[in-house]
Amino acid sequence: MSDSTNNVQLGPVAKRLVGLMARYRGLMLLSIFTGSAASVLSLSPYLATGFAVFALLQNPVSWTVILWCGLAGMLGVAGEKALFGFSTYLSHKVAFATQRDLRLELAEKLERVPLGFMDDHSKGEIRNTMVDEIELLEDGMAHLVPEVSAAIIAPILSLLLIAVIDWRLAILMVLPTLLGVLIMGRLMKNGEGPTRDYMDIQARMATVSTEMADSIATVRAFNQEAQAMGRARDVFAQMRVFSGNWVNFAVIPGTAAQVLLTSHLMFLGSVGLLMAAAGWVEVSIYAGCVAVAFGFGDLFGSIQGISHRLMRQHELLERIDHLRNARELPTQSEPAPIADASIALEDVSFFYGDREVLSGLTFEVSEGRCLALVGPSGGGKSTVARLIGRFQDVAAGTVRIGGQDVRDVAPQDLHRHIAHVFQDVFLFHGTLADNIRLGRPEASDADVEAAARAARAHDFISTLPEGYDTMLGEGGLGLSGGERQRISIARAVLKDAPILLLDEATAFADPENEALIQDAIAELARGRTVVVIAHRLHTIANVDEILVLDEGRIVERGTHADLVAADGPFASMWAAYEEARGFRHNAS
Ligand code: ADP
Repeated sequence: MSDSTNNVQLGPVAKRLVGLMARYRGLMLLSIFTGSAASVLSLSPYLATGFAVFALLQNPVSWTVILWCGLAGMLGVAGEKALFGFSTYLSHKVAFATQRDLRLELAEKLERVPLGFMDDHSKGEIRNTMVDEIELLEDGMAHLVPEVSAAIIAPILSLLLIAVIDWRLAILMVLPTLLGVLIMGRLMKNGEGPTRDYMDIQARMATVSTEMADSIATVRAFNQEAQAMGRARDVFAQMRVFSGNWVNFAVIPGTAAQVLLTSHLMFLGSVGLLMAAAGWVEVSIYAGCVAVAFGFGDLFGSIQGISHRLMRQHELLERIDHLRNARELPTQSEPAPIADASIALEDVSFFYGDREVLSGLTFEVSEGRCLALVGPSGGGKSTVARLIGRFQDVAAGTVRIGGQDVRDVAPQDLHRHIAHVFQDVFLFHGTLADNIRLGRPEASDADVEAAARAARAHDFISTLPEGYDTMLGEGGLGLSGGERQRISIARAVLKDAPILLLDEATAFADPENEALIQDAIAELARGRTVVVIAHRLHTIANVDEILVLDEGRIVERGTHADLVAADGPFASMWAAYEEARGFRHNAS
């Protein structure tokens, strides 16, 4: 069979697969060995039949030889099945181990990519790769080794045997095979398109399904059921078309293989028969060789199946490698230590795609001081927080923590120095205590409770029937926005990092909740270096410096009093804020 099917080089794909499994080469070699032995044994019924036919046509007929042939054939088949099963068992072990390695590698990769990676990839797509595509790759790898061993050895042996008995019959048998190789090569061409379309649509389906599950409430609230169903219907319809194309591509060469398989036997059978009738070949030799030729017969089916599998593996590898090769945030081999808890941005710029969202930003927060970022939505405040935590790297300029460029320090060291309290708090599936323990996994129950008290969360936790053992996250209890915020504060308290990045929640359910959270934050912020993204301007009356960010630039800076007096952008924001607040107070 041709090595290339429309640009898919099957040889290199096989090499990449073997490379992935190389760590388990001992088991793999054993699997190849047992697979090959099974392949040799698979010839036994044909050889036994051949011998038996040969013996039957001798004079006198040796019934003992024929009986032995029958027995050997049966034992050979049993041995083949057992060895093939064992070979598959071994290759599954290798493939499962490789599957685990790949999943670990991808999970570690996700820990190291810039957050921007998640902007370009849907959750469904990543889930699809980590769960389904790696599963399919495993299945392919597990079957490939025994199938390749079986496909190569038995046909070659049977051909050699026939060639030794009568080379003319061997040539007769090989002629349609060569023709078949040419035809199959053409049929298998253009297989890459249907295979890729099929995989693409599978990934899209995973995205749409995840989105449907995530967006149930939003879709209903906005009466978007019809549109959501429309999107799903489109993807499912495409799925049907693409799976159809893919099956056509799989079925047509498969059917052709079966036809060719019959024709090679027919060719040897009919032309060989004429030769026997003409007395060029002995009838017993002819009959024996036809029986042995059945052992050659699976060659097409196997090669077609293997090429097909390899092509699919090629697509899977491409997709998995896309994630494996994703760019990571570069790290230093000899990271620098962080000296103190100061923060400095020097002439920092940042882009999303080709849009500049921060330009030439410079500011400093000394250890123990507090800086507030304010300004219109989209001004770049969250991006600044992302850069300080090094979830992204700057396009130009430098972000320093404790005097060191964040790109030069070890990521673990950086994250040890910084605690985050974000607006959208992610609750993991696990107990409430475990969720708080995210700040310090080794913390004792007493420490967790102390952190929850400091975060003003203990009281609401105590009212839950299962207290700190309440299950949260997917399938568990949901919490209100204010309660989630307090869990997030408890995490930060427990983490006890010298730097705090705080994204003030924009909305609270009630003033009581707001007061609790303000108290908790004030306690958490004490003695730390703080950068707060502030929305409620009265909470930052006492911070050391306020930066007003608009369109990625600092448009004003100073203390609260300075800025109110300066009558600039902050003063207008303050006036509007005061007015709204007064309105809210009067209303309540
Ligand atoms: P703020 O926190 O002040 O509201 P952000 O830092 O979130 O501002 O956003 C700054 C700009 O960057 C905005 O114009 C926003 O649309 C854009 N932006 C934010 N996140 C992304 C993203 N993941 N991909 C592309 N653009 C983004």
